[in-house]
Amino acid sequence: MRPAIALGRRAVAALIAHPQSMYWIDSHCHLDAAEFDADRQAVRDSARSAGVGLCVLPAVEAANFDTVRLLAHTHGDVYALGIHPLYTPRAQAQDLQTLDQQLRLHRSDKRLVAVGETGLDGWVPGLDMATQQRFYTAQLQLARLHRLPVILHVRRSADLLLKGLRQTPVQGGIAHAFNGSLQQARQFIDLGFKLGFGGALTYERALQLRRLATELPLDALVLETDSPDIPPHWLYVTAAQREAGAAQGRNTPDQMPRIAQMLADLRGVSLEEVQWVTTRNVRQALGMGDDWLQVCRANAQN
Ligand SMILES: [Zn+2]
Repeated sequence: MRPAIALGRRAVAALIAHPQSMYWIDSHCHLDAAEFDADRQAVRDSARSAGVGLCVLPAVEAANFDTVRLLAHTHGDVYALGIHPLYTPRAQAQDLQTLDQQLRLHRSDKRLVAVGETGLDGWVPGLDMATQQRFYTAQLQLARLHRLPVILHVRRSADLLLKGLRQTPVQGGIAHAFNGSLQQARQFIDLGFKLGFGGALTYERALQLRRLATELPLDALVLETDSPDIPPHWLYVTAAQREAGAAQGRNTPDQMPRIAQMLADLRGVSLEEVQWVTTRNVRQALGMGDDWLQVCRANAQN
């Protein structure tokens, strides 16, 4: 038995007033990536038409802090500032000072919602784990100092990330593109985190991930595209096609509704329920008040 979800009175009123309207938050989108240089505005417009009212734009290194902040302001989105584990080989200690300064300087910017993307990657070869850990711990300390949630990159690193969170507790956040075990998921949830699911859910063979997305409480999940990465199966270009000269498929934030439909189907619930609950979850995880629902709705022109 799955308990019925209780919608707030305002949510129900909005549903009745706008039965066809769906407002999505893409909780992880690298709109600043070079893959979007040729058509960034069109990509964001297309997402808007698909009902994506807000994208969360995480930075990956000090060099793109200004870019993500400007993009968020230009497109009415929100952003996070941090140093991604894959960028730690070229990051400097000075970059942590820059991060601290930027978090201080923009503390009253309501579009700055988290520290991230930070975390640990235990999968990509050649990354020094001690260096990653140094940047991760320092960013957890900055998140505490500036009272911000954290957006985490998790890849074969869940236990190490959890250990770091126990040593340096933060107010929570999002473990994006989550791919750990059910037990690890529960530990993140206990520490105040929501778990991000996206394009990887669309692969029939992703049995463990699909089981996770079905068994965890919907209250713990947020949806994301991770654009331009992790293309859903309908955009995926196979190795054989790439050998024949095709480029890897590019993920875009307008895929949100279709990915959400996949989650709704897997769980056997309505798309409306997935929309209301996951949108609220993002706002909870990132400390964004009710007013953001209106911003999201106004920004989605579907
Ligand atoms: Zn990312």
